[in-house]
Amino acid sequence: MPNTENVDIVICGGGCSAMLLLYYLQQYPDFSKMTVLVIEKETVYDNKTWCFWHDTDHSLQHLISNTWHQVQFADKNFSSTQAIKPYSYSSIKGKDFYDYFLNQLIPELSNVKIIKDEVCSIQKYTGGSSKVICNKGIYIGSKVYSSIIDKQFYTAPIFIWQHFKGWHIKTDTDVFDRDTITLMDFKNCSANSCDFIYVLPYSNNEALIEFTAFSPEVWSDHAYQLKFDQYANMHLKGINFSIIGAEQGTIPMVDYKHSATGSGGQILIGTAAGKIKATSGYGFEKMRADAQILSAQFFKQPIVRQKTKNRFKFYDKLLLKVILEDPQEAVRIFGQLFNKIPFPLILKFLYEETNLYQEALIFSKLPFLPFIKRV
Ligand SMILES: Cc1cc2nc3c(=O)[nH]c(=O)nc-3n(C[C@H](O)[C@H](O)[C@H](O)COP(=O)(O)OP(=O)(O)OC[C@H]3O[C@@H](n4cnc5c(N)ncnc54)[C@H](O)[C@@H]3O)c2cc1C
Repeated sequence: MPNTENVDIVICGGGCSAMLLLYYLQQYPDFSKMTVLVIEKETVYDNKTWCFWHDTDHSLQHLISNTWHQVQFADKNFSSTQAIKPYSYSSIKGKDFYDYFLNQLIPELSNVKIIKDEVCSIQKYTGGSSKVICNKGIYIGSKVYSSIIDKQFYTAPIFIWQHFKGWHIKTDTDVFDRDTITLMDFKNCSANSCDFIYVLPYSNNEALIEFTAFSPEVWSDHAYQLKFDQYANMHLKGINFSIIGAEQGTIPMVDYKHSATGSGGQILIGTAAGKIKATSGYGFEKMRADAQILSAQFFKQPIVRQKTKNRFKFYDKLLLKVILEDPQEAVRIFGQLFNKIPFPLILKFLYEETNLYQEALIFSKLPFLPFIKRV
């Protein structure tokens, strides 16, 4: 018979959104009176890097390893580099993030315990609480949060992978502009594909060169290698460079009707709550803002949780359809967008913070037909 434990808060999954939630919850004085469990099935945390843009000082500033102020976009017809003021583009390394939470913050919180176990199901229990059934134990939480993704998510009819492999390289001469990230470079995009290069320069002679594609199937290692070799031939000819590391990942880009809560009464967080933008794969800032709101709600502050506005879901759905059905058309749309619209406004739009007037301006500069055909 497995152990049963009653606590105030259970957080299912101990990844990014869980840590962000803990970060804001523990800032309330009454948090120390709560008993809290974080249930995570893995012992090794993935080593991704989170990038995001922000317009004010960041509350996790101490974890930010790099910040940039300019963005470059390029395709076969044009290239442009622009300052992104009022935004800055920053990155947090997964290793720094998890080191901070697991080895610094959580050990200081005597009321928080991390349990290595796999959540099998979450059920409604008495008095508004939920019962979390795991392989090794059962946990009753007065409040349960969960970042575990519903299996149905992976069977959504419009489902594309944003998949990538990046090489972290160091050159013996300066070849990168330390203050400019390349957000999308489609110059070397393959036929009938929507793929681009993303470059994060850590210094003038060190950068992450990432090859990203939006497609239903994830590429083989060989396909990424070919892209890297082409890049090296074009940009690094005659330059000595060494490969310091590589990183690879996949992010689902999905048209899915996310719920705020699960069938067991758990409050969904992170990817499971639809906090990752379907057409960009960015979610860190949305998850952080959501964690701030959920923490305030937990401590009875009158604040409403933000939902994605329907019109942004609609735009995402149309663009996902274009990417799926006509990837080259999607490349043309990205080209038009970055050619005609100031980059800070594009970033604002991607964060779903634009108003209708600004969206009308953006759509007036884009080809109409690919969208109309797919309404
Ligand atoms: C490779 C990659 C790079 C990304 N880069 C960026 C970026 O640069 N910027 C950005 O804004 N967004 C980025 N994202 C998107 C998003 O920010 C991340 O996916 C983020 O980690 C999502 O947080 P999460 O808490 O929802 O999921 P996760 O961080 O994956 O956490 C979920 C946790 O739940 C655990 N778990 C799952 N099932 C169970 C179970 N049954 N029982 C117990 N534990 C379980 C998992 O092991 C995991 O630790 C990236 C995503 C990926 C995959």
